[in-house]
Amino acid sequence: MTTRYKMVCPHCGGENVSKDATARWDVEQQSWLISGMHDGEHCDDCDVELKRILEVEIPLDQAVMAPFSVDQMSAMEEDCGLPGGALDDKYNPEGDGEHPVISRQMWRQAVEQHETISGYWDWTAHKIAEETAPQG
Ligand SMILES: [Zn+2]
Repeated sequence: MTTRYKMVCPHCGGENVSKDATARWDVEQQSWLISGMHDGEHCDDCDVELKRILEVEIPLDQAVMAPFSVDQMSAMEEDCGLPGGALDDKYNPEGDGEHPVISRQMWRQAVEQHETISGYWDWTAHKIAEETAPQG
């Protein structure tokens, strides 16, 4: 998966930014195609010209889609087969804890995207099983 970016105004942090470009009419496609990008950038919310639009990685998507490192994979292999309750006991003795690889943020994202209705630890157990399963 490639990293996704969003373009953000450095003043207000908003995404209502635009960039000047030249468009040329394409007879084949019957539409205006961008043929050149220029330096002029503008924030609609601040109503100012910008020197530079900020390019920001979209971290949540990346966290979910990023391939795991070797260390993270071995941490998950160690926990593979443990049910949610056992993970809870192992990493969450005080409450408030989270798994070192599968973060609560990742779980919240999955809940928001309606991928799961499970609680955090059950989802983590499921996720670990999924990630450590031999690739077919
Ligand atoms: Zn702005």
